[in-house]
Amino acid sequence: MTHEAAILKAREIAEGVLAPAAAQNDAAGQFSSDAIRALGEAGLLGVMLPAEVGGMALGPRTFAAVTAALAEADASVAMVYTMHVMGTASIAAARAAATTQPILQDIAAGRHLSTLAFSEAGSRSHFWAPVSRAQRNGNGVKISAKKSWVTSAGHAQSYIVSALSPEGAGPTDLTLYLVTAETPGLSVAGPWNGMGLRANASAPVTLADCPVSTDLQLTDDSAGFAAMLNVVMPLFNLGSAAVALGLCRSAVNSTAAHLKTAKFEHLDQTLGEALPTLRAQLATMQIQTDSLAALIDDTIDHLETPRDTTMLRVLEVKAAAGETSISVTSTAMRVCGGAAFSKHLNIERLFRDAHAGAVMAPTADVMREFIGKSLLGIPLF
Ligand SMILES: Cc1cc2nc3c(=O)[nH]c(=O)nc-3n(C[C@H](O)[C@H](O)[C@H](O)COP(=O)(O)OP(=O)(O)OC[C@H]3O[C@@H](n4cnc5c(N)ncnc54)[C@H](O)[C@@H]3O)c2cc1C
Repeated sequence: MTHEAAILKAREIAEGVLAPAAAQNDAAGQFSSDAIRALGEAGLLGVMLPAEVGGMALGPRTFAAVTAALAEADASVAMVYTMHVMGTASIAAARAAATTQPILQDIAAGRHLSTLAFSEAGSRSHFWAPVSRAQRNGNGVKISAKKSWVTSAGHAQSYIVSALSPEGAGPTDLTLYLVTAETPGLSVAGPWNGMGLRANASAPVTLADCPVSTDLQLTDDSAGFAAMLNVVMPLFNLGSAAVALGLCRSAVNSTAAHLKTAKFEHLDQTLGEALPTLRAQLATMQIQTDSLAALIDDTIDHLETPRDTTMLRVLEVKAAAGETSISVTSTAMRVCGGAAFSKHLNIERLFRDAHAGAVMAPTADVMREFIGKSLLGIPLF
């Protein structure tokens, strides 16, 4: 499938499967298995996997465009998709000793959803410093951990779990493991009742002496930190930014539609015709949205052709995206007045969903800290 065909397919699924169910799934906090099935059947779960395992062999440009298209209809599904692509990238980058071929084939065939289980109750948003430690268990390890939020909890077929290496000495001497959903000791530890992204099942997950065999150890001992930084973070920041872009585009569209249809009958004018201040605020939303799109494009360009400033762009794009989507959806709330506030429009959902981006780790504050340090030549960790 080409880049364009993948986006077309994503738009079809967004319009046909995601959009009609988004409001209801948000209200009920209901994970959309229909959406994952449709994405799987279209081959989009294997968007960046190589053709040898049945993947589409497309790059970050397609991943970002597909994610943004999904987020325009339902940001919960778009975040589930982003986390799946992160899990998949971790599996695809596994060390040679890991047995990953059958799982990658299942992902490409649409039969396997993955996700990341990095954040822990003990180290909170500092996911690079897990407090859990894997223990030697024959040839493999066993892991006990309290993972604080795991997108697609209870719905994914695999969880990419971080834990300190059995003999690791430092706080970031961690290893990545693949833990399958049926592993004894793995359980969803509570409900998910978020303010936003309510349909993405980001519940806590507990691992209690979960056995993991050597063939599912994805990185060498203590090499998980490098995989987090080099494999996961660039794509995760891009995916988060694409979710934010979809939210902004949806907010602009919904606001414009409201300004074109809601009327002051006593003036015989629509809101948009009557009030220049609303037109100006809509224009600001459009400028912010297009600025984010341009930054995302530039980040993709940096990922496709790496250079000295690539890591800086990767850090900037998530920080900017979280704040842009909060700003654009907040303006939409104001412009659309009581209609937005009273949930007559989808804008209130977009506003709630937009707030997740800035608190998902690495958080917007941590991004700023990293950007500042990197500009001053101070080591990030
Ligand atoms: C919808 C949703 C889905 C999620 N999905 C996943 C998932 O699939 N997998 C996963 O592993 N995790 C996931 N998470 C967890 C997420 O990545 C963060 O770990 C979590 O949101 C952090 O919340 P906290 O209360 O622990 O933050 P805290 O660590 O308590 O942070 C509190 C505040 O301090 C700020 N702060 C922290 N450190 C610094 C610093 N060094 N400098 C400046 N400010 C700082 C933060 O920005 C924040 O504002 C998800 C979270 C949400 C909300």
